[in-house]
Amino acid sequence: LDTSTIRIIGSEDRHVAHNYHPLPVVIARGEGAWVTDVEGKRYLDLLSAYSALNFGHRHPALVAAAEEQLGRLTLTSRAYHNDQLGAFAEALARLCGKDLVLPMNTGAEAVETGLKVARAWAYRVKGVAQDAATVVVANGNFHGRTTTIVGFSDDPQAHDDFGPFAPGFVSVPYGDAAAIEAAITPQTAAVLIEPIQGEAGVVIPPDGFLREVRDICTKHNVLLIADEIQSGLGRVGETFACDREGVVPDVYLLGKALGGGILPLSAVVADEAVLGVIRPGEHGSTFGGNPLASAIGLRVVEMLASGEFQTRAKALGEHLEAKLAELVGHGVTGVRVAGLWAGVDVDPARGTGREIAERLLGRGVLVKDTHGQTIRIAPPLVVRATELDWAIEQLKLVLDA
Ligand code: PLP
Repeated sequence: LDTSTIRIIGSEDRHVAHNYHPLPVVIARGEGAWVTDVEGKRYLDLLSAYSALNFGHRHPALVAAAEEQLGRLTLTSRAYHNDQLGAFAEALARLCGKDLVLPMNTGAEAVETGLKVARAWAYRVKGVAQDAATVVVANGNFHGRTTTIVGFSDDPQAHDDFGPFAPGFVSVPYGDAAAIEAAITPQTAAVLIEPIQGEAGVVIPPDGFLREVRDICTKHNVLLIADEIQSGLGRVGETFACDREGVVPDVYLLGKALGGGILPLSAVVADEAVLGVIRPGEHGSTFGGNPLASAIGLRVVEMLASGEFQTRAKALGEHLEAKLAELVGHGVTGVRVAGLWAGVDVDPARGTGREIAERLLGRGVLVKDTHGQTIRIAPPLVVRATELDWAIEQLKLVLDA
């Protein structure tokens, strides 16, 4: 490691809380699917900030939208109207086929907002007794880091020593529709589910699962809340992972790529009959719906409305899937691929996920390990097939190292 890399990592180590274990590389620039470190070395970014960079680093159309808005207005709070939020909300609602958008900032805030909406809907519309509403969630879930959300996580690192937790959540095995139905009672407000579990290692539920869950929710008058924060907005070769089964949830939770990789922008999107339950003064955020985020979000939605990125993700994903399949039995014990998104289980005989990620770093490829033996591949959707091929070559080399 070069002295500037060592110095910068050292100052982070001394002054930044140790809530992450980053790879030992210091990024200084980014463009498209590539980043450059402080020493001038280039890396292909196969993580995309956990899918927040679906459009790549500094996509010119998004930078232009941001720069134009920076020159006019950045923040009003929602004490006033601004001239950007309405257009963004209209475009996003249309993309989702819904009536209303509630803008927030981070993914965890969108999840919290969705939970509040579901509870208010249960009391005000469904007629559940006050404070009795429950939400069904899935084992292995990842919905963010707030105290309510980590309370229903079964990952000890996320959960342990952060209680006491909010009651009202029931967790069932992921991918098991019958278990969801069995957990539903007259007090159930919602089923909160990731259509594909990202942090768990790109875990794809069995075919037909989401359709069954949709039918169960409809039958029992329970809201289906799809957390598409990581799976949505083009990643899986469709606008939403729910589209893979033609499923329309009652509530979409969106984040990450919605802000174009430029700033945090999340949203809850639903019909008037659901999101309309929230009244003035009951929920909000100082930065939620700010004009800068809205201007960028509108451009993001316009880019998705063209379908170009979904088509790219689907084609490149098929390419990636074929290449990764060749590795199974050769240092890889399993792969799960949905669009341009893959979980790759590394044979423990070849090293841990972290060791593979560190060896790939040495060869100019950035990936992130998850849960020990898995590495996650989620390139920006602007990556080229030849770049993917080169990255897979590097993976082959490090698995054999
Ligand atoms: N939901 C899902 C499915 C996620 O993958 C994440 C982040 O990884 C979140 C919610 C939380 O988003 P944020 O980190 O922006 O709070």
